[in-house]
Amino acid sequence: MSAPLLSTHGLVARYGDFQALYGIDFEIAAGEIVALIGANGAGKSTLLKSIMGLLRVAPDMVKLDGRPVGGTKPHRIVAEGVAIVPEGRRLFVGMSVIDNLRVAIDHAGRPAANGWTLERLYGLFPMLKEKQAVPVQSLSGGQQQMVAIGRALLSQPRVLLCDEISLGLAPKVVKEIYQSLPSISEAGTAIVLVEQDIGLARATSNRLYCMLEGRVSLTGRSAEISREAIGEAYFGGA
Ligand code: ATP
Repeated sequence: MSAPLLSTHGLVARYGDFQALYGIDFEIAAGEIVALIGANGAGKSTLLKSIMGLLRVAPDMVKLDGRPVGGTKPHRIVAEGVAIVPEGRRLFVGMSVIDNLRVAIDHAGRPAANGWTLERLYGLFPMLKEKQAVPVQSLSGGQQQMVAIGRALLSQPRVLLCDEISLGLAPKVVKEIYQSLPSISEAGTAIVLVEQDIGLARATSNRLYCMLEGRVSLTGRSAEISREAIGEAYFGGA
């Protein structure tokens, strides 16, 4: 792998007295798609939150381009080029599709260096153009997810963190969303995919990490890891 764009080093994270992560070493290079799998409560969302500066972590535990950024405030991390599509989407209800997208354009800390413009986004998800004046709450779950992905892309991320973007969506729309991911990564944006559907995660990613009880239980190239190895790493050995 080429030099990592984003990495974590012995990352530990807590919620008060409860330790959720026990020394996570993770890395992703520009243009890669890396899946993060694991059972409920394994710590996947906590890892994303730690990277985004939503949990207190030491500076050296998260690096971007080799520079320590752990504990940097979320808006600064976004400005540095990391964006998240959060679990549950968190759109601005009551606002139209275009206004949800404009929030990201207005708050992008960087110019459109990565080239994500509304026009390019409309090329990726034509629905966004058709429905631009529609309030987001009247869209289907899949359409709302496209708004959430679009909003993240318009902040010009070099790394896009996606937290369970297929959850609760119809298979047809999951397919449409997942088919859009290679064109995002091929343009250089690294994608971290937290995904419950192991088959989908494996088929879409270059590499994967499996987490178990706050630790990495398996990592490697997705095409080279057997189902059996994933099963063991997912549920833990006897
Ligand atoms: P899921 O698929 O359910 O989202 P996950 O792998 O993303 O699972 P996390 O949400 O990161 O798991 O949770 C890791 C651990 O931290 C779990 O034991 C969970 O109960 C705990 N946890 C998560 N959020 C909090 C919180 N706000 N306060 C206390 N404990 C939390």
